[in-house]
Amino acid sequence: MSVETRTKSSVTDAPATDVIRLEGVTKRFGANTVLDDLNFSVAPGKHVTLIGPSGSGKTTILRLLMTLTKPDEGTITVDGEQLFPAPEKRVREVRKKIGMVFQQFNLFPNMSVLRNITEAPVRVLGMSRDEAEARARELLELVGLADKCDARPTRLSGGQQQRVAIARALAMRPQVLLLDEVTSALDPELVAGVLDLLRDIAHSTDITMLCVTHEMGFARDISDQVLMFDSGRVIESGSPEKIFSDPERDRTREFLSAVL
Ligand code: ADP
Repeated sequence: MSVETRTKSSVTDAPATDVIRLEGVTKRFGANTVLDDLNFSVAPGKHVTLIGPSGSGKTTILRLLMTLTKPDEGTITVDGEQLFPAPEKRVREVRKKIGMVFQQFNLFPNMSVLRNITEAPVRVLGMSRDEAEARARELLELVGLADKCDARPTRLSGGQQQRVAIARALAMRPQVLLLDEVTSALDPELVAGVLDLLRDIAHSTDITMLCVTHEMGFARDISDQVLMFDSGRVIESGSPEKIFSDPERDRTREFLSAVL
């Protein structure tokens, strides 16, 4: 498959700057401390998965990285660039490096599938419409929807809409892909196809991925590291083998037995 971004290299690179770094991040909504002095980082090309009960703060992390919300304390850097405070211009540059796929697809309903994918590359990256369309067609081929260029998203199944959303995110050639429970809104029979596509992307590119999911099999397959959240803190982290087969914390064990 051809995701043109960055193809996996067999060379072991010297340690590079972490692509994502959170240091001492605290986020409150009123009296509710949603993230509590959070520290973690993601190295280039790595896939980190956030698991944990609903309300533990996982989505808030993705929203912080997308600059959709601000931390009360701490620093967040993406590819070495600090966000909050940062000049608007820098925030815009950083956001170009990040693609996000949401639970609810968030496609533009009044645009064709092709236009959904070409809009941001044309407007934000300044790509010519011809180039953006050629790239969009390639990506639609990749996600198995080459015949749906002219369709409106509302005419597609949830699984197909999510594939378009994935193609749309990839069209920006992101360095980082944020996935927020991307199969939660799908009918059960459509989940496997979308996860297979994401597995392919995870294994054949070196896009850095930060993923929130309740799909533990998927997390196990794609993750280099799994972070277990509870009440706004990472209570345990490790390789998927360790977290899923031999967790240290009772809370992790309890959570996994409820979701597996
Ligand atoms: P998770 O993704 O782990 O389910 P979230 O990050 O969505 O958790 O939410 C963590 C907590 O923050 C929850 O208690 C939620 O109600 C609260 N929260 C999230 N967004 C807002 C908001 N915009 N205003 C107030 N509270 C919020």
